[in-house]
Amino acid sequence: MTAGDAVTRDTLGRPLHDLRVSVTDRCNMRCQYCMPREVFGPGFVFAPRQELLTFEEITDVVAAFVRAGVRKVRLTGGEPLLRAGLPDLVAMVAAVPGVEDVALTTNGSLLARHATKLRAAGLQRVTVSLDTLDPELFTKLSDTEISLAAVLDGIEAASAAGFVPIKLNTVVRRGSNDADVERVAEFARRHGHIVRFIEYMDVGGTNGWRVDDVVPSSEIVTRLSARWQLEPIDPNYRGEVASRYRYLDGAGEIGVISSISQPFCGACTRARLSAIGEVYTCLFGSHGTDLRAVVRASSDDETRAGALDAAIAQLWGARADRYSELRSAHTRARQPRKVEMSHIGG
Ligand code: SAM
Ligand code: SF4
Ligand code: SF4
Repeated sequence: MTAGDAVTRDTLGRPLHDLRVSVTDRCNMRCQYCMPREVFGPGFVFAPRQELLTFEEITDVVAAFVRAGVRKVRLTGGEPLLRAGLPDLVAMVAAVPGVEDVALTTNGSLLARHATKLRAAGLQRVTVSLDTLDPELFTKLSDTEISLAAVLDGIEAASAAGFVPIKLNTVVRRGSNDADVERVAEFARRHGHIVRFIEYMDVGGTNGWRVDDVVPSSEIVTRLSARWQLEPIDPNYRGEVASRYRYLDGAGEIGVISSISQPFCGACTRARLSAIGEVYTCLFGSHGTDLRAVVRASSDDETRAGALDAAIAQLWGARADRYSELRSAHTRARQPRKVEMSHIGG
């Protein structure tokens, strides 16, 4: 099969279109809602190096996903810029025939050092996570020695390297950073970035998620509308997870991602590859399908490609995930242990 052949669909008729690739399960921050230090402390055992997919193995897996319909690839983590030589991987993934878009989600702390090389390697888009513009709150929320200034330098370097517009991801939590929403929006307006406010999700089992901590997107839009005039605009493409609004004064746009208040499983075309080569077909999955064993089983290119194609067709063909649409039922029934966000990437 070549890129563009028959599209693989899951049991709910959803095609496979995007792949998130986690390149490491490690991170230099300990955001409370993602890798709380009580769990991911000095005693936590991360994947040993030999368990991580190599860049060649990742590229083989990406190529197989492209043959199954994927067009967009996003590198993530953990913190993807902790993986040495990431620009080399960007170049390898961007060179896979059929890949139309290569993007990166990062906490921004190492971006100032790498932005130019990433651009030269063929990276098209960068998303930086930025939950607050208050330096003290930043230190508290990210539970790290890294300063907010380092992240802001990273954002500036990425702009200067040509990643325009930059997207900012802001996870809003009640009683945590929710007072900062207008300030982040103002910053994004001023610099031409696009901020996307994300509802805090019950990913994994370590962050102590409570529904009371979720700030619904409708509240964010109401608050921002009180300050600036906004109007809804069409999605950029079918299945876009963010609902978009533009400022009527021409200062760009914002997005809101309403995973909790308005789940969008019906349009979910995304697979996730963990750093150790497991594929998850849902952010809220309990276990992944091991593709590392498949990729390591044969040194013959054709045999390996055929085995990957068969494994991906099988796992996507069997997919029935719609966790967010069933969330309240799950909450009542207590579902099995879920994978952590830092393991499979956001
Ligand atoms: N370390 C990188 C970063 O922070 O951008 C990439 C990985 S991080 C897991 C990807 C995204 O997931 C980040 O924007 C982060 O804010 C988001 N995230 C993590 N835990 C979350 C949660 N419980 N609910 C919503 N978003 C979450
Ligand atoms: Fe690290 Fe990103 Fe998770 Fe924060 S959200 S702990 S930066 S992986
Ligand atoms: Fe996709 Fe699972 Fe999220 Fe639904 S809950 S949108 S299926 S990742």
